[in-house]
Amino acid sequence: MEIIKTDILIVGAGPAGCSVARDIKDKDIIVIDKSTFPRDKPCSGLLVEESKEVLERLKIPKSVFGVPPELDLEHIDLDNNLNVLQKKGLGNTDRIKLDEWLFKLINKKVEFYQNTHITEIKDNGQRVVVKIITETGEKVVEAKKLVGADGSTSTIRRLLKVKPVTRYKTAQNFIKTNKKINTCKFIYWNELTDWYSWLLPKEEGIIEIGGAFHLNVDREVVLNKLMKKMGVDGEIIKRANWLISRPKSIDEICLGNGKNIFLVGEAAGFISASTGEGISFGLRSGTFLSQILNFDSDINKKYKEVIKTLIDEVKNKIKKSEMLNDEKSREYLLKELGN
Ligand SMILES: Cc1cc2nc3c(=O)[nH]c(=O)nc-3n(C[C@H](O)[C@H](O)[C@H](O)COP(=O)(O)OP(=O)(O)OC[C@H]3O[C@@H](n4cnc5c(N)ncnc54)[C@H](O)[C@@H]3O)c2cc1C
Repeated sequence: MEIIKTDILIVGAGPAGCSVARDIKDKDIIVIDKSTFPRDKPCSGLLVEESKEVLERLKIPKSVFGVPPELDLEHIDLDNNLNVLQKKGLGNTDRIKLDEWLFKLINKKVEFYQNTHITEIKDNGQRVVVKIITETGEKVVEAKKLVGADGSTSTIRRLLKVKPVTRYKTAQNFIKTNKKINTCKFIYWNELTDWYSWLLPKEEGIIEIGGAFHLNVDREVVLNKLMKKMGVDGEIIKRANWLISRPKSIDEICLGNGKNIFLVGEAAGFISASTGEGISFGLRSGTFLSQILNFDSDINKKYKEVIKTLIDEVKNKIKKSEMLNDEKSREYLLKELGN
């Protein structure tokens, strides 16, 4: 069987994996991804301030944005009969185009295998020996370091025998409609979910309606109910289903095996438990790890140190999500946001 040697093997070419690859200097890098590229990762593509900050530094092109390119946030609390507008200026991107652009930034410096997945990993302390199945057959990669940037369904996390982060089911419908919407709406309705649902314009004449639900619900039933409640109808031109992480405690965060295997982005548990915002966490955790991988010693210790700020952020988001779960404290919180 062919054996490929490399300094760093990155599994997953989303925002986290691309950020690791982009900022590593003078090392051989292999990136593998199980998807066909350009990939279509189910996501609303909204950018919070932290994402915009990173992406503006990288000169994000206008062509990546939807219509309108920025959105304010309207919180619709159906349980408390409350409607609060928050001036937020969320970036409204087309996620396929965003990922395509992020990938182009690394394309020339890495060896890339698409439609490729990992079946086995063994960290012998010196190197990680990894079995992969590529488009042309099975190969072995011997890497000095392995990075798991493989998102909410992380195989690396599973192969390390670490429990997945608490997850919810997502469902999205993209609808052709004449209905005019000019804000992004976060909808809180306990009857459907103890997290939230959303409604937003994506392009001229196209809106997205979706939500994050417990694993045992029937996606079609809840989404139909939501569409009816929000008065949305029209031709459904695309449906997307996925899993999203919602950490209940920072104990769910895993940075790797403490040897030569590291986790970043959603695979590590970096995502907001209050909004499900994971792009900025992927970009930033990936960049942090890349800076550390430029060193040759004490990498685990250094990674733990630099990532502390993001762990604190996840902790705060968990607290906020607990407040949003409770009808009374949600009412208080949303009224505060509106002031
Ligand atoms: C419906 C929905 C809406 C969302 N909306 C937003 C939003 O508006 N704003 C926001 O900031 N966040 C949003 N998120 C969260 C955000 O999409 C993720 O948190 C973010 O993409 C995580 O980035 P990542 O690089 O860690 O992982 P991902 O973007 O998931 O990338 C992981 C990559 O790994 C690959 N992969 C997985 N397993 C393997 C394997 N075994 N072998 C090889 N490759 C593998 C996948 O193909 C993928 O390309 C949303 C999520 C969902 C589900």
